[in-house]
Parts: sequence; C-alpha cells; structure tokens
Amino acid sequence: MSGPLHLSRTIWDDAVDAVVIGGGGAGLMAALVAAEKGVEVGLFEREAALGGKTALAMGILTASQTEFQKQAGIDDRHEDHLAELRDYFDRTGARLEEEKARFLIERSPETFEQLTALGVEFRGPHPEKPHRTPRLHNVVPDGGAIVAALEKGCRELGVRIVRESPAKDLILDHAGRVSGVVCERNGESRHIRAGTAVLAAGDSAADFALIEALTGTAVEGEVFRSFASGEVQKMAMRAGARMNPPQRPPAPQCRFVDAPHVEPAADFYAAGAVRIGRSGRTHPSPQAEVEEPEDIFIVFDSAVAARLASAADDVGPGRDGWKRTGKPYIATAPTVGYFYLEDCKALEWYAETDTLDGIAELVGCKTTDLRASGASLAQPPYFVLGPLRNYLMIDGAGLAIDEEMRVLSVDGDPIPGLYAAGACAGWIHYFGGHGHALGWALASGRVAGARAADRVLANAF
Ligand SMILES: Cc1cc2nc3c(=O)[nH]c(=O)nc-3n(C[C@H](O)[C@H](O)[C@H](O)COP(=O)(O)OP(=O)(O)OC[C@H]3O[C@@H](n4cnc5c(N)ncnc54)[C@H](O)[C@@H]3O)c2cc1C
Repeated sequence: MSGPLHLSRTIWDDAVDAVVIGGGGAGLMAALVAAEKGVEVGLFEREAALGGKTALAMGILTASQTEFQKQAGIDDRHEDHLAELRDYFDRTGARLEEEKARFLIERSPETFEQLTALGVEFRGPHPEKPHRTPRLHNVVPDGGAIVAALEKGCRELGVRIVRESPAKDLILDHAGRVSGVVCERNGESRHIRAGTAVLAAGDSAADFALIEALTGTAVEGEVFRSFASGEVQKMAMRAGARMNPPQRPPAPQCRFVDAPHVEPAADFYAAGAVRIGRSGRTHPSPQAEVEEPEDIFIVFDSAVAARLASAADDVGPGRDGWKRTGKPYIATAPTVGYFYLEDCKALEWYAETDTLDGIAELVGCKTTDLRASGASLAQPPYFVLGPLRNYLMIDGAGLAIDEEMRVLSVDGDPIPGLYAAGACAGWIHYFGGHGHALGWALASGRVAGARAADRVLANAF
C-alpha cells in the first residue's frame, strides 16, 4: 500500500473548511453539525444518490431515556440498557466495545431531539428481545426519512453536496496534518483543500482482501450491497491510520432480497416456518455456517400461521400486540414496527397456494423436496415468502478512533485533522436486537462534525 499524497505546492481545484466523505447518516449528520457551527463544509458522495445503507435501513433506533419513552410512561436507564447489551454479548461470545456502546447509548436522547427538530417522525417505543424494556423507536416510514431530513438541513445551512465524486486519497502537509483530499469527478482528479476531513464512507465488508488481511482467515460468501468497498479505510491506512478487525467472526444473516430487506425473526422459525432453497435443500435457522448462496423461500401452513401474532392482536398505533399475546411476529419492519402475515400480503414477496405442487412451483424445487424438508405442511392454504438470501455479515471492522472521533495512527496518536464516523469507524451492525447501528452512525457523526468544526474555528484565530 503506497503512502498518502504529500503535496507542498498543490494546485487546488477548490477549497472548503471541512470535507466530509460519504453521504449516509453519519456523513450527513457530521456535515450538518459542522455547518451549524458556521464552518464551510463540502460533502463528497461516491454514488448518484445520497443515503448509503442508511437509506436502506428499516429506520429502527434502539434507545433509552428518550422523550418517547417518558411520554409512554416507561422508566428506563442508560445503565440498564448497557448492562443488557453486555449480558447479551457475554452470552454470545462477541466482543463488546464498551466505550462505543456507552457513547451511543448516552447520546441517543440528543440524537432523537435533533432528528425530531428536523421533522423526522417516530413510532414507538416497541419491545424487542433481548431488551427487557421497550426501546425500539421506528422512523416513519424508514431510514430514507433520516437521509431526506438531514440533506434538507444541510442544504439550508449551505453545505456543498457533490455527488458522483468518490474520494481517492488524503493529502497531508509535511507535518502530517490533513490539508485536503483528492476526489474524482467525471473521471478527473480534483484536489480539494480542507484543514479537516471526516471519513464517513460506511463499512468495508465487501473488501474481502482487507478483511482477510485483518483477520488472517479466508472469507467466502455474498455481502449485502457493495457500498462497503473499504476504499476510504485504505485511503486512511495509507495516511498511517490503524484499522481494527471485525469484532466477531463473519456470520450469515438471512434477509429478503427485495426492499425493505427485512430479516425474519428467530421466533417465526421456531413456530414452524421452514427455509428451503430452489435446489430443494433446507436451510437451518439460525444459520450457523456460510453456505453456497442461493434463493431461499420460507414455507409454512395455516397451522403455523395460526400460531403467529396478527394485526388483530394489535393495540393501537404501538403495534405491539405480539408482546401482549406472547405470539411470534414475522419480522421487525419499517413504519409499523412488526410485520404480521396481513402486512406481508401487500408485498410482492408473498404468495398463497392450496397444494404442495403449488409451493414447489413457486419455490422452483420438487414436491418430493418439500415432503423431505420436515416442514409442517398438513393444513392448507400454504404460504410462501421470498426470495431471501444468506448474506455474509462482517461487522465491527473500522478505523481506530478516540472518544473525539479522531482517527488514530498505528502508533496510537491522532492524525491531525482526520476524523471518522459511522460504520467507517466500526461498530457491530446487528447485535442484541436491531437499532444500534443507526444510533452509532448518527451519534458519532454528530461528534465528528462538531470536533472537526472546532478544529477549523480554533485554527482560524
Ligand atoms: C437492509 C438494511 C437495514 C438496516 N436497518 C437498520 C435499522 O433499522 N437500524 C439500525 O440501527 N441499523 C440498520 N442497518 C444498519 C445501518 O443502516 C448502517 O449501519 C448505517 O446506516 C451506517 O451508516 P453510515 O453513514 O456509517 O454508512 P452508509 O449509510 O452506508 O453511508 C456511507 C456512504 O459513503 C459513500 N461512500 C463510500 N465510499 C465513498 C468514497 N470513496 N467517496 C465518497 N463516498 C463514499 C457510500 O456511497 C454511502 O453513501 C441496516 C442495514 C441494512 C443494509
């Protein structure tokens, strides 16, 4: 890996006080907060559309001591939230980065306050295992609403947003301080002068070579979307940054191929729903090992459906009837909180049939495969949901940072002027329930943006 650019007499194509790389939740939040402090911000996004994985997200934020909980009469404590997360990690053998967990938990009320002030609407709080208190807050309709609100806020504050302009390199001065970035635009390199840079380009899960170099083990499988290119992490590494390895071994996660890409709950499978591939192979759940990727369908009969919670169990807008009845739900979902069979009917990935041959036709397998699958298929009508895929989850790998979101070098010292936020700076995406990844992206984006702006303002006098 060659080193960063050290340019003493760079011809600059443009100049801003601070650059933000990546227009997902973390980057947009960092840009907004920096602009609120009065610094000139340029945000560079690789894709034509802003949003990254934030725009794909269900929009679940798991948080404690929020105004929403208070309004619902729920007495919650950050310490209890942290303790439950710690217990869960202990039980599952993953490594909890306690400082990051505390950071995002303690900052969640202010994250909510800011999003609400920007016009983002929430439903909840809903309960979700393993949390003992309802902490699941759903953005309406989904993560796209966060992106839209942050983008609007950025534009109102004059943030210059440049799309289709991937960052390619950092420029350091001879003292090793950030002095700009190289971004591509229409195939040409542009040198952007800036005394601080916030790296918020998402995770690096699609860069198997990088993950293998960090873990020392071979990685095989299919990751969800290719946003996670790792190019910004490698750009920082060329400038001397340290990269932390994933916090747990890569593991498969079964999600619907079609939006909103929900992930069926373990209790749904425990109720008797069975996963079968086009090849006729049944896929155990929870999935222990990475397998050959193939389209997977969930099949079940009316007897299983009768064991599930339904919209009729619901109690008002909270949509938490499943909790009241103790019956399983199909998945957590955008807007509503939980998907029941009724919710699935409106979606393309739902089908109903009265015969086993009908299921086989929908799945693309043989009727004999269904008989051999062990699925309870005695009572028609039968239900088929899918396709789903086992996507490889590689999370927690990220640039090493301190509590000020400064990127640390391999020697452990901050690289002057360089900050990172969101998945670019690690954190386990899904653990101990949904909703901690967005919280991390937004809370770390707030701090990175504020500190980057403070540095600009301090150097201005
Ligand atoms: C289907 C799905 C559902 C999810 N649901 C939830 C949920 O409900 N709750 C939750 O907490 N978490 C959820 N997550 C996880 C969560 O969405 C992410 O962890 C979080 O959004 C990451 O935010 P980010 O800003 O760090 O990265 P992203 O939102 O991915 O943004 C990174 C941006 O950087 C851009 N970029 C990359 N390289 C460059 C470059 N070289 N130059 C410029 N730009 C670049 C990318 O194009 C992208 O726009 C979900 C994830 C998925 C995939």
